[in-house]
Amino acid sequence: MIKEQPPRPATLSPAETAVEVQSSSTSVFRVSREIDFCYGHRLLNYDGKCRHLHGHNGRAVITIESSSLDNRGMVMDFSDIKRVVSSWIDENLDHRMLLCKRDPYVQILKDLGEPLFLLDENPTAENICKLIHEFTASRGFPIVETQLWETPHCFATYRAARYVPGEAN
Ligand SMILES: [Zn+2]
Repeated sequence: MIKEQPPRPATLSPAETAVEVQSSSTSVFRVSREIDFCYGHRLLNYDGKCRHLHGHNGRAVITIESSSLDNRGMVMDFSDIKRVVSSWIDENLDHRMLLCKRDPYVQILKDLGEPLFLLDENPTAENICKLIHEFTASRGFPIVETQLWETPHCFATYRAARYVPGEAN
């Protein structure tokens, strides 16, 4: 396991930061919430160190957007993201081995009673990022971008089309 924590992205300090993004025609607000968790994985069809079982201290950065603020002056209460998304990550990904369903280790680790989370695809930073993004969108959050920091120096980003209230996610 990597001992040191990933650094905060330069644009996100302190941990919960609201940024007003200006464009020529519209203004939108974005807020981001960081969620730290530990996970194990290994990659199939890969010739580097990540083909072996190992772990990361990961950090997900969830960014949501709105063109207007609610009556509290917020895009959304940070605690709402924590309550829903952090809870799901804690219960499903934290301190688990994230493996591709086709990985031959799946059955072995299941037989040993190890906690697993299985993905259809290789459990790369990109696919874990997309997984967290899609879960967050499925719960109705106006999410526009998710980052998954796998190490202090490497992260993946997944973006969706701009959220439109009332449209299916
Ligand atoms: Zn890895």
